Amino acid sequence: VRRPLVMANWKMNMTPDQVEPYLQQVIPEVNKDTGADVAVAAQDLYLAQMVKETAGSRLAIAAENAHWTDDGAYTGETSPKALALVGVSYVLIGHFERRKLFNETDERVNLKTKAALKNGLKPIVDLDEDLSAYAKEDKKTIVLKQLKIALEGITAEEMADVAIAYEPTWAIGSGEAASAEQAEKSAEFIRQSLVNLYDQQVADQTRILYGGSVTTENAADFLSQEDIDGILVGKAALKPESFLKLIDIAQ
Ligand code: 13P
Repeated sequence: VRRPLVMANWKMNMTPDQVEPYLQQVIPEVNKDTGADVAVAAQDLYLAQMVKETAGSRLAIAAENAHWTDDGAYTGETSPKALALVGVSYVLIGHFERRKLFNETDERVNLKTKAALKNGLKPIVDLDEDLSAYAKEDKKTIVLKQLKIALEGITAEEMADVAIAYEPTWAIGSGEAASAEQAEKSAEFIRQSLVNLYDQQVADQTRILYGGSVTTENAADFLSQEDIDGILVGKAALKPESFLKLIDIAQ
């Protein structure tokens, strides 16, 4: 049985003064435990503070990216080792915006996923599919390629700490979510691919999240799908009231 994971992705939003009030509003609800894991991904600048403010609570903190080596001459990058030592729990790897705007390749996604695991961070490996792929109906090929390369060299044991997020590019920030049926089809395909790449047990235990214009209106539809185990939410998670509603729906 897979425990749902509800993750806010703040992206490059929120000002310093908004961080603490947001967390203070969310923590009491999350602590009621609830049957769902809950995490907030934020820009690096806020992470250490967020870890401190959520200490002893059930709310986990996530980074939005990390480098593939522990340390070295990589100006402007963030070390996965440092993230883990600061107390960050999860890290998004290969988010669509990283792939599109910052030239993140499948190979780097693989290196970063391995580095995250090595340091005890739980990677959320993001797969995306663009509209042209969607129209051509070869989305499966594209998603499968991303999945295969991302997980190359990662063992079945390590997969216990990995989650997959599936985000159709055209649904991200567009206000136009995939239908729950479309998303379920893709999630089912990803799960079947995990059977092929690993085995049934790995496939059964791996959480697959949907992301792309999730709202308090459509979240229940996604979460009720057999192969969708969570949601990765941008815009609709920027207000704590709305994120709380999403958490409530996931329980
Ligand atoms: P939106 O929820 O704003 O569409 O963003 C989705 C996303 O990219 C989450 O990682």
